[in-house]
Amino acid sequence: MNEDLLDKGIELPIMEEFYTLQGEGIQTGRAAYFVRLGGCDIACEWCDTKESWNSNLFPPKNVDDLLLRIMAAKPQSVVVTGGEPLNWNLDYLCQKLKENNIRTFLETSGSQPLSGLWDWICVSPKKSSPPLDDLLDKADELKVIVHDQTDFTWAEENASKVRPDCYLLLQPEWSQRLQITPVIIDYIKKFPQWRLSLQAHKFLKIP
Ligand code: SF4
Repeated sequence: MNEDLLDKGIELPIMEEFYTLQGEGIQTGRAAYFVRLGGCDIACEWCDTKESWNSNLFPPKNVDDLLLRIMAAKPQSVVVTGGEPLNWNLDYLCQKLKENNIRTFLETSGSQPLSGLWDWICVSPKKSSPPLDDLLDKADELKVIVHDQTDFTWAEENASKVRPDCYLLLQPEWSQRLQITPVIIDYIKKFPQWRLSLQAHKFLKIP
């Protein structure tokens, strides 16, 4: 492994990549090329990508080669997700995507300093590793996963730190969706600045 290429973001530990429709959040239904990077030490109990946590399982791959695969798919947008993608330097990837007029979307917990140039930043805050104020300030979308009642307080704490034009979303944690979704709906009726986000890709069984 060449640490220098990793540090410069010329190589990244790509776990998987696929062209699909966005399944959750404000951009639901839009076509986008997903790049999932390995590595996350936040260890959310309900994480649905636990296999992404150990970055050592994903040998770094060349970003120029990634770009060729992305261009072949002809997407308008690329979503970079993880794992926690901000564990890595995303400047080079974003620069190359921008040179090719591809929109750049980031999905992050917000717990690491920002790199890269983004058209859309979705921060999904995690209690065990809270987002940095700078990331909350830059968020276009705050997406809080609701597992139980305590997550509403957590959602409001984070909402108090984002810009006024940031979209506020509550998303049922998948394993609790039958119990918690009606509670979220009642909450949004009382506090309509929030919107419901559903993981449509899981209902539709698409990647
Ligand atoms: S931050 Fe995301 S990838 Fe990391 S453990 Fe939590 S849900 Fe999983």
